[in-house]
Amino acid sequence: MGLEEYKSQMERCSRCSLCKWVPIMQVKNWRFAQNCPSILKYNFHSYSAGGKIIAALGLLENRFELTDEFVDIVYRCSMDGACGVSCKNIMSTGIIDSMEILHELRVKLFKDGRIPKRHKDLINDVEKYDNPYKEPKEKRSQWAEGLDIKEVTKEKAEVLYYVGCTAAYRTPSNAKNTARILELAGVDFGTLGENEICCASTPYKIGATGLFEKYARKNIKTFNDLDVKTIVTQCAGCYHMLKVEYPKIGKINAEVLHISEYITRLMEKGKIKFTKEVPLKVTWHDPCHLGRLGEPSIPWEGKMVKAFGQALLFDPPKKVKYGLGGVYEPPRNILRNIPGLDFVEMMRIREYSFCCAAGGGVRAAYPELARFAGAERIEEAKTTGAEALVTCCPFCELNFGETIEEKKEKIKLYDLTELVLQAMGEKSYKLEIER
Ligand code: SF4
Ligand code: SF4
Repeated sequence: MGLEEYKSQMERCSRCSLCKWVPIMQVKNWRFAQNCPSILKYNFHSYSAGGKIIAALGLLENRFELTDEFVDIVYRCSMDGACGVSCKNIMSTGIIDSMEILHELRVKLFKDGRIPKRHKDLINDVEKYDNPYKEPKEKRSQWAEGLDIKEVTKEKAEVLYYVGCTAAYRTPSNAKNTARILELAGVDFGTLGENEICCASTPYKIGATGLFEKYARKNIKTFNDLDVKTIVTQCAGCYHMLKVEYPKIGKINAEVLHISEYITRLMEKGKIKFTKEVPLKVTWHDPCHLGRLGEPSIPWEGKMVKAFGQALLFDPPKKVKYGLGGVYEPPRNILRNIPGLDFVEMMRIREYSFCCAAGGGVRAAYPELARFAGAERIEEAKTTGAEALVTCCPFCELNFGETIEEKKEKIKLYDLTELVLQAMGEKSYKLEIER
């Protein structure tokens, strides 16, 4: 679909601005009532979802010329989906899908060659290196040196651990901890080693759909040729691609699980047991790609029709995504089961989680926005009295880690896998952030 096909949805935007806020019934404190990193930082309507939608409508109707300033506003957005949850909560029919509209707007800007220079470079880097970090292929499995891990293209395995570019090149401790957990639980697993390529999350978010589809097709073929039963990701961004976006391109024959879901399953089977106390007060950050954006897509084909002369409806009815189907309970279940661990919640959680704004190409092109949102989330974490912020997404961790360092914050940062290994009485690798 092109942006034009969303015109009737865009015309339905009532400019109510509710997409800037956590839905009122879910607000627990005015200080943490806003949900959009972009409007929170820039405080000008155009930066909100509603603002961008109205402007995009103006663009379609040739009411203004595309300017670099508008492009800049469109890309100062982490594509995290919080606006979509709030708008649908209010409009309840789900007629306006802000995330689909914002994505189509980016696709149009990409086709018109009007994307930020940093994003053009990122796309070229993915095409040239198969990763957005300009790292050589040979370095992709460097994290596994000294570990006895199967390469699934050479030896058959039941489970594929899809590592992803960020864990492989920037947070290798994530990969080492994940592999160690699988090994200790006796899972027959392997990785693609140096043959693994990017999931193409960043090109997708930037609007480079052609490149995304090329990588999606390549990856789906690789997965299906392997004949693995399960694919596990530790990276929330990879999870979102494999679980939600790839099925729109082709079917993956294996089930796709996030490591928090897989650990929960191993706990239920008695293959993972927590034997050691971890005396720590922690809070959990829901990565957007694992939470509201991790809700599987339900294919829909149809058209929009007018009822009673003015109400706009989907025909046939479309299943509206409210973000409820994301992965929320497995990580919480793990944390609650770790002996000695005191788990407390923040105010904006689950589908109302506040994005750290590293994603959507923001960290690369607008690091100041990513740092601002990271700092906002750390402030929220601190109000819980937690000593540590826990999450399970290398990209969120890069951003939080750098923000904590920059602001000299005392709060600690853990990946979930690190705490799991500690509770299993095993040595874990401390979160490493490489630049
Ligand atoms: S996008 Fe939805 S919530 Fe935002 S201003 Fe428009 S109608 Fe209101
Ligand atoms: S995707 Fe996130 S940053 Fe972008 S408009 Fe929506 S809430 Fe704001």
